[in-house]
Amino acid sequence: MKRVGILTSGGDAPGMNAAIRAVTRSAIYNSLEVIGFRRGYEGLLDGDVVPLSVSSVGGIIHRGGTMLRTARSERFIKPEGVREGLQRLKEYDIDALVVIGGDGSFRGAYDLHKLGFPVVGIPGTIDNDMAGTDCTIGFDTACNTALQCIEKLRDTASSHERLFLVEVMGRNAGFLALEAAVAAGAEHVLIPEVPFDMDALCKKLHYARERGKSHSLIIVAEGVMSASELQSRLKDTGGFDARIIVLGHIQRGGSPSSFDAVLASRLGGGAVDALLKGEFGTMVGRIAGQIVASPIQASWEDKKNLDSDMLALVDILGI
Ligand code: ATP
Repeated sequence: MKRVGILTSGGDAPGMNAAIRAVTRSAIYNSLEVIGFRRGYEGLLDGDVVPLSVSSVGGIIHRGGTMLRTARSERFIKPEGVREGLQRLKEYDIDALVVIGGDGSFRGAYDLHKLGFPVVGIPGTIDNDMAGTDCTIGFDTACNTALQCIEKLRDTASSHERLFLVEVMGRNAGFLALEAAVAAGAEHVLIPEVPFDMDALCKKLHYARERGKSHSLIIVAEGVMSASELQSRLKDTGGFDARIIVLGHIQRGGSPSSFDAVLASRLGGGAVDALLKGEFGTMVGRIAGQIVASPIQASWEDKKNLDSDMLALVDILGI
């Protein structure tokens, strides 16, 4: 193996730059060349390349976003797009590809793997909805960002005795919502993994009011419904007036936390180790503190369970 390609794909996540840096420097340390593809699979198909060196990945470990930029590529989802991508990799003499992204990006990488091309995935998404790793790169930073915003809201919620609904990201998973809810001391959390029960929520809110609770914070994962939909349903069903905040893309931005910078650095080094050992078609993850390579398809085929104790804790602590 002489030359490694690398790309970031799907939604950006804080720590992706730290992973690019770690892959590049670990590869060069092991006498490999590194070529970056800009804008994910779109850049692969377009031949949008940038050679990476020890110095070109300097000064990025602390920066949010991704220096390689990212994209969603409709073309690459089709089989002919994957074949064209393979052709492009051959044209650039790439011997193996490192893909940093979420499970959609890994499906694309798996398609390349099935055509016989060596790939290794690094899980990078704020959603944390991938098996094969306890945490994805960006999740911890996004939780901290959400927490900072919610803390500020709490101040005003308690001063004005209001009910606030905070919509957080996470796609179809509730990891981010649950973590933020426990950390922020929210009274309620609504996540896609638990069927939504309007009557139960209204009962809890009424009960809290009867006990004299003047303010409440509800965290709603985007995969359940939008905060504005919940706002009108709470008004219609229970007569509650709520203010809403949608945290939105702010959750994806900012410098990575130390946890994410370390995780990304370790996974970047681990991805190069996997390539050198010939562990292709894998993703590297951190499980119980260890860097582990698992089959890349396990990231979406296996189920990553939410911690049900944490869920129960929101109710117990948010009385
Ligand atoms: P996040 O969930 O954080 O946004 P992601 O990697 O899951 O990250 P997606 O938009 O699902 O984001 O996927 C990113 C890109 O991966 C897609 O735009 C597409 O180019 C490629 N991709 C997704 N699914 C497939 C698939 N089944 N086959 C081939 N390529 C795919």
